Amino acid sequence: MLDSNNIAEAIRTFGGIEVSENDDYPKYLCTTCHNFLQNALAFRKSAQETDTLLRQTTILDSSEESDEVDDADHNLEDEESDY
Ligand SMILES: [Zn+2]
Repeated sequence: MLDSNNIAEAIRTFGGIEVSENDDYPKYLCTTCHNFLQNALAFRKSAQETDTLLRQTTILDSSEESDEVDDADHNLEDEESDY
């Protein structure tokens, strides 16, 4: 799942630090941290997929240009069956 490029990218993203395969620092990641990264990647994937679904719902709601808040609530409930 994680090749060396993805690991470096994940460490940059989730660790908030700069790492490179070509720097002079250690090249190894312990199993615990590797698992952390995999869980973080799984979380990001899940969050982005959910965000995409939510924004699709929002776009549908706004395209109706309705001022009624109740309509948005009903549409969200209808979309839940798709999960
Ligand atoms: Zn570690």
